[in-house]
Order: sequence, then C-alpha cells, then structure tokens
Amino acid sequence: MARVSLNNRKNLKATDVLIIGAGISGLLCATKLREAGISVRLLDKGRGVGGRMATRLMDGARLDHGAQYFTVRDSQLQEFVNTWLDANVVKEWFRHLPEDSNPEGYPRYCGIRGMTDVPKYLAKDLDVYLCAEVTQLIRKAGSWMVQTISGNSYIARDLVITAPLPQALKLLDTMSPEYVIGYIGALREVSYERGLSTLAILDGPSGLPAPGGLKVHEAPLTWIADNQIKGISPKVSAITIHANATFAEEYWHSHNGLRGNLMIEAALPFIKANIIEFDCHRWGFTTPINPWPEEYFHNAELHLTLAGDSFGGARIEGAALSGFAAASKVLDSLSIC
Ligand SMILES: Cc1cc2nc3c(=O)[nH]c(=O)nc-3n(C[C@H](O)[C@H](O)[C@H](O)COP(=O)(O)OP(=O)(O)OC[C@H]3O[C@@H](n4cnc5c(N)ncnc54)[C@H](O)[C@@H]3O)c2cc1C
Repeated sequence: MARVSLNNRKNLKATDVLIIGAGISGLLCATKLREAGISVRLLDKGRGVGGRMATRLMDGARLDHGAQYFTVRDSQLQEFVNTWLDANVVKEWFRHLPEDSNPEGYPRYCGIRGMTDVPKYLAKDLDVYLCAEVTQLIRKAGSWMVQTISGNSYIARDLVITAPLPQALKLLDTMSPEYVIGYIGALREVSYERGLSTLAILDGPSGLPAPGGLKVHEAPLTWIADNQIKGISPKVSAITIHANATFAEEYWHSHNGLRGNLMIEAALPFIKANIIEFDCHRWGFTTPINPWPEEYFHNAELHLTLAGDSFGGARIEGAALSGFAAASKVLDSLSIC
C-alpha cells in the first residue's frame, strides 16, 4: 500500500533508487525497476499519487480535473493497459467524439472511478511516501541524500527525478555548485503552459452528447467533460471545464469568483442545466511546449536520471514511455557498476 510519510522516520534503509514524483512516469519507472529486483522508493509532495492524473471529490461528485483520458500507440504500454482492463481499473471511454472525422476512431481510456485509478493501482505494490516534498539534494561519497520539507532524509545510489523539468532543475540548483550537469542551459529552455480547470456541480443532466466530452474551439475554453456521462460520478451531475493557456496566464492571479464565472459563462451555450456551485484549480504545468528531444536525460557520473513528460512528450503515454526508458537506463547503469 502507498504510505503517507511520517515525521519521525528513523533508521531508514538506503534503497538502490529513489524516485522523486509518483505521477505516471515515476510509478511506471518504479514498477519496471521493482520487477527487475531493484529496491526503489518514491517520494511525492502530494497527498495522493498520480500528479496530473487527478480526480477530486466535491459534494458527492467525482471529477477528473487534470488529464481526461489517455491513448496508446506503444505495445509495451498496451500490455500494461491490457492488465488494467482485466483488473477493472480502466475502461475504454470512447473511440471518437461526434465532431471527429475518423468514424472508426481509436480507444481513449480512463479510470473506472477516475483518472487516479491507474496511479493508485500501480502504487499499491510500491514503496511510496506521500506529503514528502523534496527540498534539498546532496551528493556525498557516491550516494544521493535527499531531504524533504519535514526534515526526513532518504539515501540511494541512483536518483530519478520525474517532476516537470523546471521543478526538477530547481531541485538540482540546491546541490553544491561543484557538481556540473551537462546541457543544463539547454534543459532550462524546456517550458510549460499553465492551465485552469473549473469544476462545477449541476442541478440536472448537462445535456452534452455522448460520450460526454466536448472539444471547444472558441477561446477561452478548450474542453468540457460531463463526469456523470463518463461514468465516474454516477450520483451527481458534474462537469469539468478547461481554459486555454492564454486565459490561464491572464487570470492566473485573479480570484476564483472572476475566472470561474468567466469560464462558466463561456460553457453555458453547451450546457442545459444550472450551475449549483463551482471551484477552480490552477495547473502550473499542463503540457511542455518544447519537450526535450530524448526520452530521458542521464548523467552517468552522478547516477542521475531525469524523466517525465518533459522528455516523453505532452501526454500520459509520453510520460509513461519516458518512465520505461528511464528504468532501462538505470538498470543498464546499475549492471555496469
Ligand atoms: C489540465 C490537464 C489536462 C491534461 N489532459 C490530458 C489528456 O487528456 N490526455 C493526456 O494524455 N494527457 C493530458 N495531460 C498531460 C498529462 O497529465 C501529463 O503529461 C502526465 O500526467 C505527466 O505525468 P508525469 O509523471 O510526467 O508528471 P506528473 O503527473 O506531474 O508527476 C510528477 C510528480 O512529481 C511530484 N513532485 C514535483 N516536485 C516534487 C518535489 N519537490 N518533491 C516531491 N514530489 C514532487 C508532483 O507532486 C507530481 O505528482 C493533461 C494535463 C493537465 C494538467
């Protein structure tokens, strides 16, 4: 089971690998390493696993407020997805939206009870510490020591950081300047868009057509989803509205009353019910604008690997493949030592 970090942790055994970030890339990287017999521990600052694969409870409703679904082209990931389908963790939400030109479409998967289902399923077999925000990296005597905001320290031989690259680089900046990381200037060029989600409870069915997801092509919105039609909020009608990056930038510092109402106003022509209440969520990192051209970054001397969607590309599948590739690289480096 995933564990919540404790402040009084003592005599913690060092692990072969420490992974910062229990989003999909970190969890799949850890799963692969564990399968290979490597001891691995994950640290995440969140109260739950999944990162941007996020599901929220609100007045009896369940709403996916980050990623909405995922697609699969890679056979290695498809094998995992097949096991998740068999275990009733994910389902095919839809193959095409009414507006799509390809009538055949291809599967868009989502968690049976929300997008956090996959991360939770992966985490149950892993050593995950939650509420464990890493604030300091120390390299000493060929090992990594990682300190969290609550004062706990964790030691490992290899370090994998899966936070979005700007956050990963901030952590690397806490190291002693004697450690030089090649390409640091180029890595700093990778940037992300910010995002805003508005989550709203309705007084009746939204009236969105099946399958309950609508791509919106007029600013300021990009997407509206009905979580009840999606099947994750059976009892309460609730929608998720996503704004575009321009709107997110402009209203980043405004209060929820203003930005939420503007987003709802833009969504109303598509919705047949009234909004009872709403809340907003800010995403500091939605998707990378210019991801790193390789699936991971590795520094052999420092036993350091960077992974996540900054490397694999702006999707869950990209993040997952980066996690797999990072695990292979770490296994290679451990076998050389
Ligand atoms: C609003 C929104 C909608 C999206 N829609 C889709 C979609 O429909 N389909 C799709 O495929 N993709 C979508 N994406 C993108 C997708 O969610 C991401 O590409 C993917 O989830 C990234 O996974 P990851 O593991 O790389 O990063 P994350 O999920 O961000 O995981 C990184 C983890 O690192 C942790 N962390 C960061 N810093 C620290 C620290 N100092 N200490 C400890 N932990 C730390 C974070 O808490 C986080 O859990 C969407 C994203 C957003 C935000």
